[in-house]
Amino acid sequence: MKDLYIDGTWVEPAQPNELEVLDPSDASLLRTVAVAGPEDVEAAVTAARRAFDTGPWRSTAARERGEILRRIAGLLQRDREEFARVESLDTGKTLEEGRIDVDDVTAVFRHYADVAAQDHGRLVDAGSGDIVSRIVHEPVGVCALIAPWNYPLLQMSWKIAPALAAGNTIVMKPSEVTPLTTLLFTGLVDELGLPPGVVNLLLGPGATGAAMVEHPGVDLISFTGGLATGEKIMAAAATGVRRVALELGGKNPNVVFADADFEAAVDNAIAAAFFHSGQVCSAGARLVVQDTIHDEFVAELARRAERVRLGNGLTEGTEVGPLVSAAHREKVEGFVAATLAEGAVLRAGGRRPEDPDLDRGFFYRPTVLDGCDRTMTAVRHEVFGPVVTVETFSTEDEAVAIANDTDYGLAGAVWTSDASRAQRVAGQLRHGTIWINDYHPYLPQAEWGGFGKSGVGRELGTAGLDEYREAKHIYQNLRPAPTGWFHG
Ligand code: NAD
Repeated sequence: MKDLYIDGTWVEPAQPNELEVLDPSDASLLRTVAVAGPEDVEAAVTAARRAFDTGPWRSTAARERGEILRRIAGLLQRDREEFARVESLDTGKTLEEGRIDVDDVTAVFRHYADVAAQDHGRLVDAGSGDIVSRIVHEPVGVCALIAPWNYPLLQMSWKIAPALAAGNTIVMKPSEVTPLTTLLFTGLVDELGLPPGVVNLLLGPGATGAAMVEHPGVDLISFTGGLATGEKIMAAAATGVRRVALELGGKNPNVVFADADFEAAVDNAIAAAFFHSGQVCSAGARLVVQDTIHDEFVAELARRAERVRLGNGLTEGTEVGPLVSAAHREKVEGFVAATLAEGAVLRAGGRRPEDPDLDRGFFYRPTVLDGCDRTMTAVRHEVFGPVVTVETFSTEDEAVAIANDTDYGLAGAVWTSDASRAQRVAGQLRHGTIWINDYHPYLPQAEWGGFGKSGVGRELGTAGLDEYREAKHIYQNLRPAPTGWFHG
């Protein structure tokens, strides 16, 4: 199966090997894909290395590279429905979410196309008219890009677009669970005819990723995924002092004060927790609600959670699809069982759906666990499923203390009609993104990333481009003269 893209050509793996990709809504086989082994990793990194060291890409004008990103954006929109359908099939998300993903991916390519065209470096005031001092940006080199399964192409695009905009060459690997849209995307790259070796695609499980990050020909590793994998990758990057950017998990507080707009807050609390079955790194899985509205708020949350319509992502009317795999659903069930055993109170869900049509898929009902405290399993760990825990607070200080009591620090929200309190609380929360009276929006122009164990570095925004470029200082003396320091 010619599923690997190395040095500008579709190739089979050196040693025949493949894995199955399943439809999570009914466990049927979508297709088998090739698995890259060590020889393929070697070939891909060698191709990327050669393309970087001796190919035309890195010295192509940034404006021209931006133009190529813009053409990629155009092709994504041309094939929007196909990408959306395949992303929906592969991940279980609804077709509408698939379309949103393709539009978001397009926006990321357009954003970095603009940014690339505007980067002229900068002049530095050296304090003398005889000195010309300037900062220029140069690519880092060969980048290994590794993505998770929840937003397969979107997460990858946050890496591909800035990496290419900056003039790097890439070897990318999507998750073994959801490789299909990255395969399609590579078809677009092939269609565009970039110089061979600039973009390389490997498929396979964690072992393929591990071989990529351990390869000495890789200068930079950008990884989005789980904390345990992130720690391994950071350790691997230490050998050879390679650059590393990590986007890891989150345990994101959604703080609701009693003076918040009730309807907006409860509706967004549902979306924050259950959108894409909670398989979102920034999911608002930790509801922190003021005690005076707790009963009313949780009753409404639970009522709406019980009404969420589960189904196949391609079926009209589905609000939420399945979890991505049988193994992942078991993990989520384990978290719920442990937290109930610790004393949490089940207000909704906590079970697989009764609908026989959903029997074969990996579905799990949206679940509300009330009466939680900071020590409980589902409060401390990232569940990454449709499970929201509820804690209460009485004072603003208490709300902040609860929301900051986590090893993670990716995102959080505060709901209140008091504008000064909103800013005060947002200022104190130790998370990379804070929403006020909203949940989930992000912008390609704004940095995304985490405090604490949520990661290292940032994606998107200017910092998201800086991950992929070196700043070089060029200092020129227009009036060279002896230093006069040494007299011999
Ligand atoms: P994962 O860590 O299991 O796998 C992620 C990727 O790493 C996959 O492509 C996998 O094959 C690869 N991999 C696994 N072991 C590896 C190794 N030793 N070396 C190199 N690569 C290896 O994560 P997942 O289960 O696919 O994704 C879920 C996680 O991703 C969650 O924790 C979620 O919070 C996180 N995530 C974070 C963000 C963010 O922006 N911070 C966004 C999406 C997902």
